[in-house]
Amino acid sequence: MSVTTIDRVLGAVEAAADEAVAFAADLVRIPTVNPPGDAYPECARTIGDRLARAGCEVEYFEAEGRPEHTPAHPRVNVVGTRRGARARPLVHLNGHFDVVPPGDGWTVDPFGGLVRDGRIYGRGACDMKAGLAAAVFAVEAIRRAGVELAGTVEVSGTVDEESGGLAGVAWLAEHGRIAAGRTDAVIIPEPLGVGRICIGHRGVYWFEVETRGRIGHGSMPFLGVNAVDGMGLVLQAFRDELQPALAARTTAVPVVPNAARHATLNVNGIEGGQRIGGIQTPCVADRCRAVFDRRFLLEEGFERTKAEVVDVVGRAVARMPGLSHGVRDLMVVPPVRTPDDSPVIGALSDAIARVLGRPATLVASPGTYDHKHVAAIAGVPHCVAYGPGELEVAHQPDEWCTIDDLTNATKVLALAVLELTGTVERGRGA
Ligand SMILES: [Zn+2]
Repeated sequence: MSVTTIDRVLGAVEAAADEAVAFAADLVRIPTVNPPGDAYPECARTIGDRLARAGCEVEYFEAEGRPEHTPAHPRVNVVGTRRGARARPLVHLNGHFDVVPPGDGWTVDPFGGLVRDGRIYGRGACDMKAGLAAAVFAVEAIRRAGVELAGTVEVSGTVDEESGGLAGVAWLAEHGRIAAGRTDAVIIPEPLGVGRICIGHRGVYWFEVETRGRIGHGSMPFLGVNAVDGMGLVLQAFRDELQPALAARTTAVPVVPNAARHATLNVNGIEGGQRIGGIQTPCVADRCRAVFDRRFLLEEGFERTKAEVVDVVGRAVARMPGLSHGVRDLMVVPPVRTPDDSPVIGALSDAIARVLGRPATLVASPGTYDHKHVAAIAGVPHCVAYGPGELEVAHQPDEWCTIDDLTNATKVLALAVLELTGTVERGRGA
């Protein structure tokens, strides 16, 4: 790739910067709140129309077969393809366009798309409509610079990342639209910060513990076995035995923030006893259920993680005669890590160094995102997250992304696409 090609593309990004900001603000004004999944068709169409103007063939994919794809809340994904001289290498830029509900505490209209003092404000400005705008305008800048790609670039806008992505990226992967054998690299412009490349995430193990005792009269608790007290023993064992062990384990994967480099456990909720029609019965609680969120490290693996939980719960329950229990898996997401020598890391690192003048930092995410579907369903190992915005303002009131971040990320994405797909260098002046 020649220096003039790079300069032309970077110049085209600069020249289109105001349009990219306006496009990101337009996306923020479409209230794609999830749940329940509002305004998806309108947002998919807005992205598709802009991709068409960027020289892409545009396809829409409704998530047929998914129960959440309903007439009231259709799940519509959009993919734009800009073909070069060959089908491959194929680079896929994927952004989710659903946003979490705004919540309280805003000083600006969450769906106003306000641009002020160098920032774009609103729900989704950071997570991740600026990232989508960066992906779209990276392709647009390549077109305006008159650069012909040797391979192919795709940009997708997908639904439901905030609720698991099953009708979004997972659906596209299940239907072969993102797949090993056709897709060489995937970049997800989530807001990890413009100098950072996210190479994966920890694993997730959601499980439910149920304790089962024996019902009895509340005035004579000694005649029953109280399942809530039993759950108390489980919570105590988690706090006294498991938590210190988890805090002592550190992963070699560069998870940020630093406190998330350890294994963690959270109790998400608990309910027990017998409430009928909202009224508490005067009984010894014979049942109690609690749901836990265990984030595990690549080094731990799922089997060990689960066995440890089952062991600690079993020994805790055994302290109370007459108490029985069960442990049920609710969700398992294996940890993912992009290979160190992945070309997508190399291309983004080179582009970050050129655009920002400093070396890229490799990080991993404390939580999961659509990377898991690219790895597990599509089977594409070369996937990272890279995009504008600060992770810490995602899902917050007065969410924002700076215009500088948007422009810089657009430049980095454009250069990475050029490097990964290759370019057709034409003779000058011919
Ligand atoms: Zn996101």
